[in-house]
Amino acid sequence: MKNKGFFDYLKQQAGEGIHYIYCAHCKVDADYIGDRLERHLPSCEYRITKQKLLEENYSF
Ligand SMILES: [Zn+2]
Repeated sequence: MKNKGFFDYLKQQAGEGIHYIYCAHCKVDADYIGDRLERHLPSCEYRITKQKLLEENYSF
């Protein structure tokens, strides 16, 4: 299975000078997420969109 990485989600910074960045959709810590799509919340808009794209790409 190819691992392209999922870094293109919208990120938000907690505040000026604060090194805490999180997904703008599900608010999960970006350090924790890394490039792992499954670490977004199941309800995350980004995760849902990506999973839908993947399913379409892998359907025969
Ligand atoms: Zn997310």
